[in-house]
Amino acid sequence: MSRTPFRQTSLAYIGLGSNLEQPRQQVASALDELDALPLSRVSSASRLYSSRPVGPQDQPDFVNAVAALETQLSPLALLDQLQALEQRHRRRRERHWGPRTLDLDVLLFNTTPVDHPRLQVPHPYMHERAFVLRPLLEIAPHLSLQGLPLEQWLAKLSDKVAPLA
Ligand code: ATP
Ligand code: CA
Ligand code: CA
Repeated sequence: MSRTPFRQTSLAYIGLGSNLEQPRQQVASALDELDALPLSRVSSASRLYSSRPVGPQDQPDFVNAVAALETQLSPLALLDQLQALEQRHRRRRERHWGPRTLDLDVLLFNTTPVDHPRLQVPHPYMHERAFVLRPLLEIAPHLSLQGLPLEQWLAKLSDKVAPLA
């Protein structure tokens, strides 16, 4: 008799970003593709937001969003899936923080910290990026980071992000 092994369902928050080749469509289709990942479903997604790039300024504005993903994948298996999805969007790694068709970051994975050479969770820069905090606040208004509500982290930041019309 075959058995399906029991796997716990985790809640991960994924940050999406694109500033090349029709960024809105890149992010919108990536949300559908996240929902289609094995052992995973998108339980909620933010609107799309527009933000100025971090790092090099000689590149187009970004379209960003955050999705809540219910998944039975482990954190590293999820990272493998996200990197494969970036590849399917023809992402090329050129300049650090340079333009890209699709960037998928694991922001949070349950309340479990991960410290692995390939994966740090919570994402080490999330609390200093309005383009992450603003969409995250939209879908998870009660979340706190290091004991401080998201809204208060956001209030410390000067960069503004706006939902796309
Ligand atoms: P940033 O991390 O500042 O947002 P980035 O998204 O441009 O920069 P990438 O080039 O996409 O960085 O990723 C570099 C490496 O970061 C990846 O190969 C991956 O192994 C690693 N990494 C570490 N923590 C995470 C995480 N939480 N989510 C996604 N990748 C991560
Ligand atoms: Ca990133
Ligand atoms: Ca990334």
